[in-house]
Amino acid sequence: MLSVRNWLAPALLAGLGAAPVWLGCAHPICRAMAILALLVLVFWVAWHRSQVHKLRQWFASPDNVLPPPASGQWEEIFSLGYRWRKGEEQQRQQLNEAMSQFREAIDILPDVLLLLDPAGQILWANRACARLLGLRWPTDRGQPLSYLVRNPRFLAFFEAGAPGTIQLPAPALPERTLEGNRYMLPNGHSLMVFRDISRLLQLEQVRRDFVANVSHELRSPLTVVSGFIETLQDTPGCGNDEALGYLQLMAQQTARMQDLVDDLLTLARLEAGAPPQPGEAVCPAGLVEQTLSAMQEQVQSKQLRLSTDLDRALCLQAHSLDITSIVRNLIENAVKYTPAGERIHVVWRRQGEEAVFIVEDTGEGIPPEHLHRLTERFYRVDKGRSRASGGTGLGLSIVKHAAARYDGRLELESAPGRGSRFSVHFPAQRLGQA
Ligand code: ADP
Repeated sequence: MLSVRNWLAPALLAGLGAAPVWLGCAHPICRAMAILALLVLVFWVAWHRSQVHKLRQWFASPDNVLPPPASGQWEEIFSLGYRWRKGEEQQRQQLNEAMSQFREAIDILPDVLLLLDPAGQILWANRACARLLGLRWPTDRGQPLSYLVRNPRFLAFFEAGAPGTIQLPAPALPERTLEGNRYMLPNGHSLMVFRDISRLLQLEQVRRDFVANVSHELRSPLTVVSGFIETLQDTPGCGNDEALGYLQLMAQQTARMQDLVDDLLTLARLEAGAPPQPGEAVCPAGLVEQTLSAMQEQVQSKQLRLSTDLDRALCLQAHSLDITSIVRNLIENAVKYTPAGERIHVVWRRQGEEAVFIVEDTGEGIPPEHLHRLTERFYRVDKGRSRASGGTGLGLSIVKHAAARYDGRLELESAPGRGSRFSVHFPAQRLGQA
């Protein structure tokens, strides 16, 4: 800004001009000098004020970057202002270019991106919102998303206001399925991403159908083969000891294949979707006792110490096949993988609002690096051992899917050398009376 020197010159001039008057000089020349000095001061102040006004107006007009003509020190001030404004303008242009490149990039994305304010109103959307959600952009800017996407499940998810994932039919293309993901931003805004997952679901269905069909097709020939093996084994004088040994091996392998096919079909059934409503009252306590009595021979031969804590009155509203799969697979695993002389404890009881089915053993346990993969199909900690003990590698996967059908969850805890604990938790709304 203006330095003190610029103010001093006219002030001194005015002071000197008016000095004779202050000193008592009443001569007309003294008076004329004083008046002249005052006029110079007034003119000087008025000129500077007009320059400041010009500067203000120039800054206030965004389109006019070039500075107005000026002289003296004001020329220097305007040229400084010009350099600053040019820099600002360049930065603005660069920002605009970056923004439009960013917009173009996300506009060609096949996924829908929506930025929502804390009230759920659309602040911003990309072009795919028209194709998949049927939104009109930018007409729908500022509209609450819940007014535009009216699917009841989506509305419940949206009103919950929490991050998460939901599947829904595409409002603008009902034959397509969308997966919506909500991400919360620190300022209370949220980002919604909708992805067309129809192709993924279709491939998943093809895989499921393929496995189910192959398993189904294998079932009949396997039944025929195992039937003939049994007949041959029972036929007196059919071959020597060696031939009988081969038949025994064939019978074992056929039974293994039948187990595998049965497990694959069970998984296919569980994956096919929700069970038909309303189900029946299934009491796991009875299923545990049946399973344990069917496995009595193995339990005794390994001298396993069994204990139970079963609430007989506690039942589930479910389908018996599903709960049998859970009970049988977990108990069979405990018996298979627990060394002789160790303990197995089976529990079915209430735990708070929930009900929980627990199978605990003091066996060799599972190293922690395997725990998160145990429910994958065909995942085994020790392949050779699992096969030798007749495992198909599908047991825990079946348990997980069967539990999920009733909004239940499978939890695993295990420590090498100390044993394992598998628990299936069922929510209160699935509990029923015997
Ligand atoms: P499998 O038919 O091989 O038993 P599962 O899916 O039932 O297949 O189990 C997967 C793997 O988890 C098993 O191969 C075994 O290594 C491990 N496992 C399951 N239950 C137990 C248990 N109670 N103790 C130790 N390991 C277990």
